[in-house]
Amino acid sequence: MKEFTYTGHPARVVFGSGTVRQIASEVERLGCKRALVLSTSHQAHEAVALSRLLGHLAVGRFTSAEIHTPVAVTQRAVETADEVKADCLVAIGGGSAIGLGKAITLHRKLPQIAVPTTYAGSEMTPILGQTDNGLKTTIRNTSLLPKAVIYDVNFTLSLPPALSATSGMNAMAHAVEALYAKDGNPVISMLALEAIRALSDSLPAIMKDPSDVEARTKALYGAWLCGIALGTTGMALHHKLCHTLGGSFNLPHSETHTVVLPHAAAFNAPAVGGALDKVAEILGAKQPGDGLYEFARMIGAPVGLKEIGMPEDGLDQAAEIATQNPYWNPRPFTKQQIRSLLDDAYFGRPPSN
Ligand code: NAD
Repeated sequence: MKEFTYTGHPARVVFGSGTVRQIASEVERLGCKRALVLSTSHQAHEAVALSRLLGHLAVGRFTSAEIHTPVAVTQRAVETADEVKADCLVAIGGGSAIGLGKAITLHRKLPQIAVPTTYAGSEMTPILGQTDNGLKTTIRNTSLLPKAVIYDVNFTLSLPPALSATSGMNAMAHAVEALYAKDGNPVISMLALEAIRALSDSLPAIMKDPSDVEARTKALYGAWLCGIALGTTGMALHHKLCHTLGGSFNLPHSETHTVVLPHAAAFNAPAVGGALDKVAEILGAKQPGDGLYEFARMIGAPVGLKEIGMPEDGLDQAAEIATQNPYWNPRPFTKQQIRSLLDDAYFGRPPSN
């Protein structure tokens, strides 16, 4: 076994069905009395329901969270937090609501309790990605980590099947990159493989029946583990490509991860000493990239950047940006190789590396 360093993040997790009923006691456990509830406008009704559960502990709601955490939205949310004299934040939703909570924490040091309703995993990471004037930057700081996370499977039952598929693939991407991360370690690899197993079992069942509570529970469990993997290890080529495509071409977050993942995995597989062999085995394929590609197709997820709004004439620029300030990657690459990878991803071809 190679030498490694493992830094675990402290996190309290309450997991199950109906667990949201514990929200008031979790706020009190933090010694807080004045919660500001956060959500996107789409989930404002969930924020109202959560406020009811919190009773006198809820002092306000901010329901305008947006994808990619625009700083202008954060400024308004911080003003609301000040106005209502919030002493903590309760975010319900996916990475957008939880990201807003982290952004407010950055300015006001308010502790956050997250109630995730997608599989994106932000709740388990000390990472905040925010956008200003169309530019997305990332901050990593342990103070941003939510103090408690309530996973309640009931909130995921309403996640539309298409978003369930891509959000699940988004989670898998965290696990795949953790398996070959520069700072990877046996503990995280064990979690990552368990997560990929859980998601590969549950997502097809969810596509058949989105109200299958057992499958939803397994997917949420897998997503939690993927979030730990993302929060604990550094990410590589796959995440760099997705940040480039999302940040500079405004492509949708989970769909982009879904399309890029098979190609990034196929590209890196020859350079990671068999670290992805088990991924292929779990997916019943010879190669991890092929396995992920076929899996995405099987669950009806998009496989081409063309399908999700990427302009063909932007591919050169994307290759340029992705290779300018590259993240560490196990396999060195040239701009031409990335351009060719993006070409396969654009047309939805199986990975060729
Ligand atoms: P999202 O939070 O933007 O949600 C997408 C849409 O689905 C929203 O309208 C939301 O309200 C709705 N939605 C969420 N859960 C639902 C449910 N159960 N039922 C019905 N509708 C539901 O999507 P996301 O993919 O979770 O998050 C994407 C954002 O999170 C991006 O900005 C991304 O950069 C960020 N993110 C950050 C990290 C991190 O560690 N910092 C990790 C993953 C994602």
